[in-house]
Amino acid sequence: MVTKTEPTTEFVQELIPYSRRVFCNRNLRMDTIRYIGFDMDYSLALYKPAMEHLQAELVLNSMVDVLGYPRSILALKYDPQFAIRGLVVDTEHGNIFKMNAHRFVGMVWHGEGPLDKEIRRDIYTNRKIDLSDPGLMMVDTQFSLPEMHLYCQLVGLFDKQADNESKPTYDRLWRDLRGAMDVLHSDDSLKTIVRGNIPEYIYKDPDLPETLHRFRSAGKKLFLLTNSEPEYTRAVMTYLLDQGHPGYAKWEDYFDFIIASARKPGFFVGDTPFLHSNEDGSSQSIPVTQLRRGQIYTGGNLQELKQWTGMRGDEVLYVGDHLYGDILRSKRDTSWRTAMVVQELERELLGMQEHGSDLTELDRLESRLFQINLERAAHAIDGNRDRRLQGEARQLNQEVLRLEKQICVHFNHTWGMMVRDRAELSAFGAQMQDYACIYTSRVSNFRLYSPVWYFRSPRQRMPHEQLR
Ligand code: IMP
Ligand code: MG
Repeated sequence: MVTKTEPTTEFVQELIPYSRRVFCNRNLRMDTIRYIGFDMDYSLALYKPAMEHLQAELVLNSMVDVLGYPRSILALKYDPQFAIRGLVVDTEHGNIFKMNAHRFVGMVWHGEGPLDKEIRRDIYTNRKIDLSDPGLMMVDTQFSLPEMHLYCQLVGLFDKQADNESKPTYDRLWRDLRGAMDVLHSDDSLKTIVRGNIPEYIYKDPDLPETLHRFRSAGKKLFLLTNSEPEYTRAVMTYLLDQGHPGYAKWEDYFDFIIASARKPGFFVGDTPFLHSNEDGSSQSIPVTQLRRGQIYTGGNLQELKQWTGMRGDEVLYVGDHLYGDILRSKRDTSWRTAMVVQELERELLGMQEHGSDLTELDRLESRLFQINLERAAHAIDGNRDRRLQGEARQLNQEVLRLEKQICVHFNHTWGMMVRDRAELSAFGAQMQDYACIYTSRVSNFRLYSPVWYFRSPRQRMPHEQLR
């Protein structure tokens, strides 16, 4: 007799391309999830590089027109390949750097190139980075990537200027750039342009409607929880979902409730009331006492959402891209389970597949180095120094360094992999591991798994469990 069983993990791995898989840090049984909440920007809506170019162009214009910066800054060329998420800006010294999981500084960039070694040593060696320092900021959304490259370029430009009088300090420069970018997001100048030509800026994922439909068919309630304003949300969601599936007349039909202008992470801890959003984007100030299907609400707070729906924290999965606002805060302030959308991962995974033999070779060299060091330790206990082993270790170290550099270039030319800093996790990678229960490169990857799939994390190992 043939019995129907869930497909095995091996079966799934053969069928699902590596770059489209969902990875698991903490076991998650999708059959226990009753509500799935979605963030919109960079989660359901993945942006094209044109968005970053537009932000860069508009922000430089605004620095000239509003803040009186010289027109020469308009000649700066934005490079969307330069920055990665997780970099830290040091506004006192005008640097950006990568930080590892233990909060020590890795690669440092100043202006147009790596920071001078001596200066780097003076500022950062043996210093554990404290992100509560107001002069340090970790950048963890894709919306902020343009700022990183523009900041370096502006620093480089003003470093060359001889006249110190009119030169902004590194800190002023950052505050002006950050402030101008902030205004762009909130005064509608950026979004008016995007709304005028959405296909230019946002990918339309043909598999997204089916993915959401499969969740609904499995009995899950879906909701949208975005910081974007209602009008922008309507425009983007219409583009992404309308006419995407015969069972849904309009995009609102996919969701049980829709919350825009949610002000995450404040949404999770505050008491902002829910308001009803009108078709013209304005909000009625009549207090809302329940969330109706098909309506858009603004503001709101977790407490009322819990009261009105009766949802329990551990039966909610929230899918977002922002490590702090979506993932870390929803995990810390609620007991929601979290799925992080990491758009850049697809490219990193393809890179890992393509350069798999280099990565295997690196593993081999590192375990040989480990063995040699063990042998050296055994000799050293009797006061002996084995010169042959010492030489071999030195050579292996150099080989590891060379290979690491070679691998690094395939990911990001300057910074290497987003989640790794040499042998350690990067600070960004460590936070992803701590706060994202599962992660994947786009929402439609879930379509490749059963909606009741049991995501299991690989067995975690401490150093003493790895080499015998
Ligand atoms: P969500 O990811 O769907 O929650 O939406 C993110 C929203 O935050 C978008 O509407 C962005 O325009 C907005 N946003 C992103 N960066 C900034 C910023 O630096 N200042 C103000 N708003 C921002
Ligand atoms: Mg987002």
